[in-house]
Amino acid sequence: MFRVSDQRGPARRPSRRPRSPPRRPPDSGKPGLHRILLQGHYDRAVPDCLFCGIAAGQVQATIVLDGKRVVAFRDTSPQAPTHVLVIPRDHYPDVAALASASDGLLDELVGQAHEVAVAEGIDGTGYRIVFNTGREGGQTVGHAHAHVLGGRPMTWPPG
Ligand code: 5GP
Ligand code: ZN
Repeated sequence: MFRVSDQRGPARRPSRRPRSPPRRPPDSGKPGLHRILLQGHYDRAVPDCLFCGIAAGQVQATIVLDGKRVVAFRDTSPQAPTHVLVIPRDHYPDVAALASASDGLLDELVGQAHEVAVAEGIDGTGYRIVFNTGREGGQTVGHAHAHVLGGRPMTWPPG
């Protein structure tokens, strides 16, 4: 009878080395744009994701809203007097993936972005909510986030 071991000579003794853990999918664990390519991909938390780290309290940030499903914090490179990032606590690579989750989380996130604008006192004068999406959209962090910008007149078209 044919056996696989026939091609490789006598069967070897099993190795005593512990088995390595199962490999994650090829994209996993990579920060930034690697993850954006997988539309609809969803993980609760992704190692090496900056914003997962902020949501988990492992990376320092100036938190302005700490909700059950949504977190908001100040951008470290503000482009306006108010510049706050609003993120889902769970990891979605971009706003399209967040929308495809269809569990009301995107609605909640936009509602919370408005609450941030109210708390910052810019809801009366107006503000801008931006979801940069993908490489040419200017997305540099592969965890869905809304920019809430205000406190000065916004120009159009954006750069
Ligand atoms: P994107 O370019 O993906 O639309 O937005 C990412 C934003 O994250 C940028 O505006 C950038 O300034 C901000 N950012 C990058 N690194 C950090 C960080 O470590 N902490 C905070 N709070 N914001 C960051
Ligand atoms: Zn993340």
